[in-house]
Amino acid sequence: MTVHRLSPEILSAMEGAVGPSGVAISGSDMAKYLGDWSGDHRGGALAVLKPASAAEVQAVVRLCGALGLGIIPQGGNTGLVAGAIDIEARGAVVISLERLNRIRLVDADNFVLQADAGCVLQAIKDASEAHDCLFPLALGAQGSCQIGGNAASNAGGVNVLRYGMARDLILGLEVVLPDGELWDGFSGLRKDNRGYDLKQLFIGSEGTLGIITGVELKLFPRPARIETAISALPPSKRPSRCSGKRAGPPPT
Ligand SMILES: Cc1cc2nc3c(=O)[nH]c(=O)nc-3n(C[C@H](O)[C@H](O)[C@H](O)COP(=O)(O)OP(=O)(O)OC[C@H]3O[C@@H](n4cnc5c(N)ncnc54)[C@H](O)[C@@H]3O)c2cc1C
Repeated sequence: MTVHRLSPEILSAMEGAVGPSGVAISGSDMAKYLGDWSGDHRGGALAVLKPASAAEVQAVVRLCGALGLGIIPQGGNTGLVAGAIDIEARGAVVISLERLNRIRLVDADNFVLQADAGCVLQAIKDASEAHDCLFPLALGAQGSCQIGGNAASNAGGVNVLRYGMARDLILGLEVVLPDGELWDGFSGLRKDNRGYDLKQLFIGSEGTLGIITGVELKLFPRPARIETAISALPPSKRPSRCSGKRAGPPPT
């Protein structure tokens, strides 16, 4: 069955899944979830649902599955490619992870941090620093983007050459699958050669395979000192390769 209208029964089922404060249906309440960061795109939604636990995400996924409603997971909505909004306004439900925002564990001895997927990246970095550790993922959107969105989009950022992509910084994931089951992929292990590395399927999958509800991250020792260097080179005197002219001999 496909539903495109929000009947009182469906509204009541949504409120049953996430509580009345977890449901937004009016234009003004939904507005901030329907536009992308750049301001270039706007979408539509039947409702915005804001679960506050993995169990509530499971309930929402099961409900939407039963009603035939499309689901769009949304983190900080900073992805810049309109992936977290429904620009065709097909009556899908936006599931915002913003209320899933608990740091679950910082284990500085083992350099591991576990957190809800809706934690803002900056909060993860701050919690790591408070334990004299570093979580190196860093990007301009770190004050708004969420760690689940970073995982779902395999974010890179400014430290990628030294520490790798989000893919290289994740030890484990917890994911609600399309049938509402919870997949617990936390292991805490750096050396783990058991079978398939399923978390890597979800990293970079942009919400197409499941909704990430928890992340287990690799921490690093916090650098004792940071030095910044700038290297400037004189402009080349060679004719540009793009100018259409044949390059002559190198200037003497
Ligand atoms: C100023 C600025 C600078 C940026 N710099 C960089 C950069 O240096 N390097 C880089 O790689 N990117 C950069 N980005 C883009 C970057 O990918 C995003 O900022 C960030 O990783 C997305 O996180 P988000 O929480 O905002 O996700 P959203 O934009 O909300 O979502 C992104 C995608 O992931 C899905 N998704 C979100 N949360 C979940 C979840 N919990 N489970 C499943 N799917 C989910 C969404 O459906 C969508 O498809 C930048 C963006 C901005 C605005």
